[in-house]
Amino acid sequence: MKVLVINTGSSSIKYQLIDMSNESNIAAGLVEKIGEAQGRIKHKRFINGQEEETVKVLPIENHQVGLDNVAALLTDPKVGVIKDKKEVDAVGHRAVHGGEKFNHSVKIDNNVIQAIKDCVPLAPLHNPANIVGIEVATKIFDHAPQVAVFDTAFHQTMPEEAYRYALPEKLYKENGVRRYGFHGTSHLYVSHAAAKFLGKKIEDFNAITIHIGNGASMAAIKHGKSIDTSMGLTPLEGLIMGTRSGDMDPAIPYFLQSNLKMTFEEVNQMLNKESGMKGITGKNDLRDIEDAYEKEHCPIATRALEMYAYRIRKYIGAYYAAIAAPLDAIIFTAGVGENSPIIRNMVCKELSCFGIELDESKNAPRSKEIRDISSPNAKIKTLVVPTNEELEIARQTKEVIG
Ligand code: AMP
Repeated sequence: MKVLVINTGSSSIKYQLIDMSNESNIAAGLVEKIGEAQGRIKHKRFINGQEEETVKVLPIENHQVGLDNVAALLTDPKVGVIKDKKEVDAVGHRAVHGGEKFNHSVKIDNNVIQAIKDCVPLAPLHNPANIVGIEVATKIFDHAPQVAVFDTAFHQTMPEEAYRYALPEKLYKENGVRRYGFHGTSHLYVSHAAAKFLGKKIEDFNAITIHIGNGASMAAIKHGKSIDTSMGLTPLEGLIMGTRSGDMDPAIPYFLQSNLKMTFEEVNQMLNKESGMKGITGKNDLRDIEDAYEKEHCPIATRALEMYAYRIRKYIGAYYAAIAAPLDAIIFTAGVGENSPIIRNMVCKELSCFGIELDESKNAPRSKEIRDISSPNAKIKTLVVPTNEELEIARQTKEVIG
């Protein structure tokens, strides 16, 4: 069975074709700059352990044209991997916000599309793009079932004390203002992979998952289920991110508007695009900040990394208390979590009182494999687990269509 996984943005489509007989990725790509004068498609196929890349530059008027081109590349005799688009057995869509309606993945029908539309106020940038992706894929792959896999679904197991804000009741009841959380597919994937790696049943597995990439969030996993997570109604809450502030005094926007006369849009833009690591250092890519820290001992870079790690440590403490049971593991994943021994060390170095201790000889080497980087004395394992959201979407798509 072959599953096409699609992640549609407002001007982009990311795709992967996965052969579920051995869970291997056979093609992948990115359609960019949809709607601009010149668009671009980067398409890769993976054949006999080799990666072959094709780049096409052309005007891509809309998502329909973009996905038509993807179908043509996938079936192209020279650069494709299938003979006919009917070989795509199912399409799995990454859907960002499922609100309270979806606590698991679903086969898409008109009711599901309407429910995703109903969640547009909660994710005004993402859900409209997801709907376009679904509508276009349904036309092009009309023979194949379409499945929606929600970023929010895994966190629907949170108890009310974790997901409610201390705001007037009617904001929750009438407007859905509550914590939803994001990156659910990744938190689910890495917690299941870690439990398997440690030989534990998922129902008995307690862990704290730390997904730190461009966006960043943590989750408290008790008995294999999410019981709390750091992103909230929107992805702005929680950890310090590349360009997002994460937690701060909720009165700061009021201060900025009343004292600095910033507009609502300027405040929104600043908190989402100009804050976080970029706000502190001027750079949002952690590699650049780590370079400045290591090579130049730059004090601003040092402070930014310490702030970044400190926020994660605070959440580890909070989530240990939320789980309130012996913890099996803390799990680092995503771009920073998988690749930065500096951040992993900064986060863990003062946590030996909790039984969290790294072995630097295991932390330092680079690897794409799942691995245990804790010292033999550690009571709680520290793991690095490469995330694979596309594979998780493909697995859930397969499960939903049986
Ligand atoms: P993601 O959103 O998971 O793709 O993560 C992307 C982010 O990971 C980039 O913006 C970088 O800040 C970070 N990253 C990638 N490689 C490294 C690395 N070797 N060291 C530190 N950070 C990295």
